[in-house]
Amino acid sequence: MQIHRSDIPNEGLDLDYEADPATLDLKGSGTEFVSSVHVRARLVLTDQSVYVSGEAQAHAKPQCVRCLEALSYPVHSSFEMTVVPKESKTGRLPGEWHELGEKELDEYFYSGDIIDLADLVREQVLLSLPTYPLCRPGCRGLCPQCGVDLNRMACRCAVEEVRRPMTHFQEKLKKIIKK
Ligand SMILES: [Zn+2]
Ligand SMILES: [Zn+2]
Repeated sequence: MQIHRSDIPNEGLDLDYEADPATLDLKGSGTEFVSSVHVRARLVLTDQSVYVSGEAQAHAKPQCVRCLEALSYPVHSSFEMTVVPKESKTGRLPGEWHELGEKELDEYFYSGDIIDLADLVREQVLLSLPTYPLCRPGCRGLCPQCGVDLNRMACRCAVEEVRRPMTHFQEKLKKIIKK
């Protein structure tokens, strides 16, 4: 969604639209989105900048990091930020950089007259995805040897793993005893 700054009236502009996850380039995140991204935002003019507040909602299907099962995850992100003209950034003196502090994190840029909300929405949606999605707290994951889902069935790999060093040890013991 691109907005011309000159189109924003003094009383502010309210937006309510559905964004396609494909056009937002959310597919590269590795998480599947099963709905469009519903965006509600309010844009208000401030000096050279535009203050943007709003929320984005979508339905994602991240994979459990252990067993790879697709999970149902409702994304709800609310944001508040200032979109500043790109030109003002380059106009800053090098000495001014350290004074920007944390507020810098919530700044986005626009160039010319066009405010592109796609980057902003994309980043906010990605930030609200779980960093370590688990299907359940104690997910047992997949067996690294045979690939079986250990939540659904047991395999013998782990048992064999444990048994092997034991027999090895027992053999050694036998030899020692024989001597
Ligand atoms: Zn899992
Ligand atoms: Zn196994």
